Amino acid sequence: MSHCEHCGIFTLQGDLPIQGAWRDITYDPVRDNIWTASEGIYRTIFLEGEKGTIAFDTFTTPGTARAYAAAIGRVFPQKPVHTIVYSHEHLDHCGYAADLAPQADIIAHDYANRVILARQADGQLPATEVWDGERKSYLIDGCYFELIYPGPTHGDGNVAAYFPQSKVLFMVDTVAAGVGYTFVPDWHLTHYVAVMKRFLSLDWDIFVPGHFWTLNRQQFIDILDFWEQMFHFGQQALIDGIDPHDWQGINRYTEEKLGPRYREHFRYYEYAAMNLSRFMQEYLTGGWGIEGNLRPDTSPL
Ligand SMILES: [Zn+2]
Repeated sequence: MSHCEHCGIFTLQGDLPIQGAWRDITYDPVRDNIWTASEGIYRTIFLEGEKGTIAFDTFTTPGTARAYAAAIGRVFPQKPVHTIVYSHEHLDHCGYAADLAPQADIIAHDYANRVILARQADGQLPATEVWDGERKSYLIDGCYFELIYPGPTHGDGNVAAYFPQSKVLFMVDTVAAGVGYTFVPDWHLTHYVAVMKRFLSLDWDIFVPGHFWTLNRQQFIDILDFWEQMFHFGQQALIDGIDPHDWQGINRYTEEKLGPRYREHFRYYEYAAMNLSRFMQEYLTGGWGIEGNLRPDTSPL
């Protein structure tokens, strides 16, 4: 079975059983017609329309994409997935529309779709409807939502979905419980916190992230405050003479300087030192290309 799984950008020949592995997906109502689904680490949302369903993202592998389709089908057995909305271009969230709902319309921001077209990953389908700019509203099968690109955050063309009637905001790989993930190289740190604060100009009280569990508005604010502190720690570590390539040294320094304030935070021991190393690299190298060096747009949305 596994030899015919979509293989993303893997080039090694042979079976890829990890691509086909089944993961159980849990699902819960969020509010109104909005549902959330998770396999424990990754999270997304899907919407109940009048005739069918709208799935955001596709999960991590062909196997999880199929499990996601099965989960939606369990909640709405008479309502097929007719539309997929991509949060961003990363394969681990949006790589397997071909396994989730190959006939569905696919909506993506132009920045994300340009990467997808260039990448030609096996199983990642390009958008059938591309949008650009900062904000676009959609009314599809009775579901109203707005897609918002606040500026560069993580990956390319990473957009939020805003549901003004339900006061729900969904965005992937930007704010999540604990101290995880900002070590990923294509995080646009110059913009990240500043543009995420733009969402505080909107009326919402539930934030659904792309990982772990749903957050409230205050948790969203507190997590951004943590990342703001990391800019100071990243600079200070360099000033204190820490070598960003000395992994033991970074771990010691992290425990000494960040531990007292943050060691109780979710997954601190997995991520804190990696985060610090990434922020140190930002100040050593000057950040991520042209995009990462333009001035962030901080105007209200
Ligand atoms: Zn991502």
